[in-house]
Amino acid sequence: MVQSMSPPVSSKLPDVGTTIFTVMSQLAADCGAINLSQGFPSFDPPEALTDRIAWHLKHGGNQYAPMSGIPELREAIAAKTARLQGRAVDPATEVTVCTGATEGLFSTIQALVRPGDDVIVFDPAYDSYEPAVTLAGGTTQHVPLRIAGNGSDFEIDWQRLADALSDRTRLVIVNFPHNPTGAVLEPADLDRLAETLRGSGAYVLSDEVYEHIVFDGQHHHSIASHDELWERCVVTCSFGKTFHATGWKVGYCLAKPELTSEFRKVHQFATFAVSTPMQHGLADYLTSDPHFYEHLSAFYQEKRDFFCSLLEQTRLRLQPARSTFFQIVDYGDISDELDVEVAQRWTREIGVASIPLSVFCEQPFTGTRLRFCFAKDDDMLADAVEKLARL
Ligand code: PMP
Ligand code: GLN
Repeated sequence: MVQSMSPPVSSKLPDVGTTIFTVMSQLAADCGAINLSQGFPSFDPPEALTDRIAWHLKHGGNQYAPMSGIPELREAIAAKTARLQGRAVDPATEVTVCTGATEGLFSTIQALVRPGDDVIVFDPAYDSYEPAVTLAGGTTQHVPLRIAGNGSDFEIDWQRLADALSDRTRLVIVNFPHNPTGAVLEPADLDRLAETLRGSGAYVLSDEVYEHIVFDGQHHHSIASHDELWERCVVTCSFGKTFHATGWKVGYCLAKPELTSEFRKVHQFATFAVSTPMQHGLADYLTSDPHFYEHLSAFYQEKRDFFCSLLEQTRLRLQPARSTFFQIVDYGDISDELDVEVAQRWTREIGVASIPLSVFCEQPFTGTRLRFCFAKDDDMLADAVEKLARL
């Protein structure tokens, strides 16, 4: 009998486990808890959009799409970028449709980062950046965001960014509107970023998946809107958040032709092309209702206000989120336990699942803070807060 002799597995990502989103969603399911952890809406995409996708599924839109995306969708994305951010992008050479923002981020990092390069991220940092940098042979440098005066706003610490930059810095990854804190960038911040990077060889990878969810009359200022930053940036967006369809995994990248060309070299072998009927449906919908985005901030602002006003019954402290569909709460008046333990215990014992912030930080500095997703039906939010009010 031949004995099985599997070669030993030497992990390329020895420190990577299962993502916090999977862990907490699974725990919520196991405990029957209300799941305000992983960020996904409890409501459906617009019917006119799903109708268009269904139409294309039944009318021949089922074979490979072009590698860079169907022209109609790239044109619609270019029109939106010009209208909202004042940046004229060429749909042929500066727009690529990708498999969710995750693939856009991953392919950009593989295209730009080489062994020995440094990549700067701001903590708390979304969890997919660092493993992609590691796989490319780079080293992630974590620069913590600064917690501003009132203890609830997070912002870039410009001095720490300047101190972290070196000749080895190949890429700076920014994510505004910011998951999980809801921080946003003002035009002056874009100027400051451009100034700080001037003369350096670093590119900017800007994760803007929450671009259309910004509150209180603020406006999202894309890195692409800034002339100097546009020269060195790749912007990644996703239709998942915008159309209540996180399961579709359709996103796009914007960058100058030289950068797009390098991005596409990786994209074409990471995935080749993105789901054809989805692209046709999205293109039809973006063309027929180009103003859909304008309702989204108001829709989520109402959700945020509803959730925050309910939370007044609890001993959780908060400042209403400035963007995204996540609300940070501080449980310091209830417990001084670590956030990871509190998130797990409350899921089991109280029946509400959340995300601890420290998992997004190299050196935990976010204290007694948890993230709740409020992209949920009002009844679900009310039930969750009723449970939290018992604490
Ligand atoms: N970046 C951030 C900050 C996110 O919150 C998410 C998750 N939704 C992504 C990227 C990934 O987006 P997608 O689901 O389109 O891959
Ligand atoms: N972006 C989502 C969040 O922040 C999760 C995405 C995922 O599960 N990978 O909750």
